[in-house]
Amino acid sequence: MPAPYKDRFAGKKVLVTGASQGIGEATALRFAEEGAQVALNGRKEDKLIAVREKLPKVSGGEHPIATGDISKEEDVKRLVAESIKVMGGLDVLVCNAGYQIPSPSEDIKLEDFEGMMAVNVTGVMLPCREVIRYWLENGIKGTIIVNSSVHQIIPKPHYLGYSASKGAVGNIVRTLALEYAGRGIRVNAVAPGAIVTPINMSWVNDPEQYKAVASHIPMKRPGESREIADAITFLAAEDSTYITGQTLYVDGGLTLYGDFEKNWSS
Ligand code: NAD
Repeated sequence: MPAPYKDRFAGKKVLVTGASQGIGEATALRFAEEGAQVALNGRKEDKLIAVREKLPKVSGGEHPIATGDISKEEDVKRLVAESIKVMGGLDVLVCNAGYQIPSPSEDIKLEDFEGMMAVNVTGVMLPCREVIRYWLENGIKGTIIVNSSVHQIIPKPHYLGYSASKGAVGNIVRTLALEYAGRGIRVNAVAPGAIVTPINMSWVNDPEQYKAVASHIPMKRPGESREIADAITFLAAEDSTYITGQTLYVDGGLTLYGDFEKNWSS
């Protein structure tokens, strides 16, 4: 589906973390379709180069590859500085990288819990810190969008680390938004529900499992990555200049608690 706008981000410089597939890739594509130069972060250079080949060329210059592990301080310092240098600035940061490992909570491995916290929480804090410092030093009124999850508020049994990390993300967004609102920096989150991305293909491709997932969603279908990109670009654009500190749930109504569609409690 083509981008609904054409030049909304012409001349803008964007950094997307976790851009090698899924929602990050769709978001990078949407920004580039609307004219932005996009620095693509991920850990594997070849995958990022393959994504870059799908992006339209823009007048600002080539979309830079910003390889690095978003949970590692030295990587983040380097890749943020390089992205800013190559693009000649930065206007929008999208903290998208994240992952989950399932386990009954009584068996959760410390390394798995800490791994999710490292990528999903530290991997948001570090790029935010580096980019905000650059914006403050240069008087830039930039904007940050963090990819959270409906599990920021809906508990997810067997996903303790993931739920905890997304809860933390909600408070990172609210804290940064309050701290920097007076200096023109906006910070928001999107919280997707169940989205068709590479990590979900096992249930997407299984008709029974797909039906089971869809039955819990009031709109009766999972979302597409481009529908999350729609919300992320809205929060980055001139359309949302008075919005900060918010989490926008993009979930087909999942956080409306669809099981209450027919009243069973009274
Ligand atoms: P995905 O696994 O398809 O993509 C995640 C991206 O992050 C990949 O490019 C991966 O390489 C990258 N990444 C992971 N660890 C990294 C690290 N340490 N450093 C740099 N990059 C790293 O996942 P997705 O489904 O596109 O999810 C993207 C975001 O959306 C995540 O934060 C996820 O929690 C959130 N989300 C997804 C869904 C869904 O249903 N797919 C629902 C709610 C929230």
